[in-house]
Amino acid sequence: EPLIRFEGAAKTYADGTVAVGGLDLDVREHELLTLVGPSGSGKSTLLRMVNRLVEPTGGRVLVAGRDVATEDPVLLRRGIGYVIQDVGLFPHRTVAQNIATVPGLLGWDRRRTQERVAELLLLVGLDPAVHGPRYPHELSGGQRQRVGVARALAANPQVMLMDEPFGAVDPEGRRALQEEFRRIHDELGTTVLLVTHDIDEAVVLGDRVAVFSQGGRLEQVDSPIRVLTQ
Ligand code: ADP
Ligand code: ADP
Repeated sequence: EPLIRFEGAAKTYADGTVAVGGLDLDVREHELLTLVGPSGSGKSTLLRMVNRLVEPTGGRVLVAGRDVATEDPVLLRRGIGYVIQDVGLFPHRTVAQNIATVPGLLGWDRRRTQERVAELLLLVGLDPAVHGPRYPHELSGGQRQRVGVARALAANPQVMLMDEPFGAVDPEGRRALQEEFRRIHDELGTTVLLVTHDIDEAVVLGDRVAVFSQGGRLEQVDSPIRVLTQ
């Protein structure tokens, strides 16, 4: 059974824009599925159906066999990490405090939280002693994205939704982040849906690649090599 299943999932916005045209798609547990296509092809809309930031106007979305429309959004989002371009860290909190927000909410004690924060910073290639006490504006764009990934991983989510997570990072830093993230995924086995408009990123990162076209149409879902050669 797939971990995430889109069944005839469709979204037409109130102004009549057909963002997602009614599509079926299964995401396997532990899979890193990349969603690629031009701007406006409905990728973000589809992604946001999973954590109920968007309610479908047709069909449904199942996570672990349960229709997300019947789930409490706050509880649902605890199991689903969400990373967007330019992460939106709290500017007046240090890196460590930003990450601690998640386990902190879940009632962890101070010591355990600190250990978890350090572990997460190391995982994304940052130094807890150096970067933990800094404020977001004291980091590079790439380092901020790393913190965003660490924060999303803090609650040990079963699913990670990533929307152009490396989009604001310069090309060099971007390659490093992609490699780092691929390694993190292999280590943790989190199920990941990652949106990008960059076909290179989609094939480098994805176990499978879903190719979208305008009007929210799913053209192809296949291995990177077959997407490249067709
Ligand atoms: P992508 O992620 O592939 O760039 P989006 O899902 O962001 O695509 O957008 C798909 C289409 O839906 C676009 O035409 C976009 O302008 C439109 N759209 C997105 N959000 C809204 C909204 N809140 N209201 C109306 N139209 C929207
Ligand atoms: P509170 O518990 O204070 O109501 P929420 O957990 O609902 O806070 O988060 C506030 C807002 O932040 C949500 O409405 C949502 O837009 C965003 N948000 C928080 N966590 C997530 C998540 N895992 N996925 C998507 N959006 C999230």
